[in-house]
Amino acid sequence: PKRTDCPLDKDELGRSSWGFLHSMASYFPEKPTHSQSSDMARFFNIFAQFYPCEPCALDFQEDIKKNPPKTSSRDELAKWLCERHNTVNVKLGKPKFDCSKVHERWRDGWLDGSCD
Ligand code: FAD
Repeated sequence: PKRTDCPLDKDELGRSSWGFLHSMASYFPEKPTHSQSSDMARFFNIFAQFYPCEPCALDFQEDIKKNPPKTSSRDELAKWLCERHNTVNVKLGKPKFDCSKVHERWRDGWLDGSCD
């Protein structure tokens, strides 16, 4: 079997998960209904319960207890998630990402056209 057919290690799981989560946030409605907002908040609480890396999940649960999901608009959600990811980046000694660029990274592509 190929390497890509093996179980995901912690970093592969992390990269794929952030890709999904940031994409989901960048496509969340700009003006969600009450039920979309509360469902998205519940999604993150459930996600944190079942994320399949135990130390990651425990820290993420703590972090979102202190900083609960902000789900009243797309921009709020994307910024909130970017900040949660930055908390993990700092913990791991990685650089912080500039959260004003989160939609460029995950939805629109860079302004210089490099993703076109
Ligand atoms: P990643 O951090 O996976 O990021 C992928 C891409 O996202 C980057 O290349 C960049 O373009 C973009 N990006 C970076 N920062 C941001 C941001 N703030 N907002 C938006 N986009 C951004 N690993 C551990 O070792 N210990 C942990 O406790 C741990 N906890 C985790 C908790 C969660 C909820 C998740 C999803 C992952 C966790 N990880 C943890 C994995 C870790 O965050 C990384 O995914 C992994 O180290 C691989 O890092 P990477 O350098 O490839 O980039």
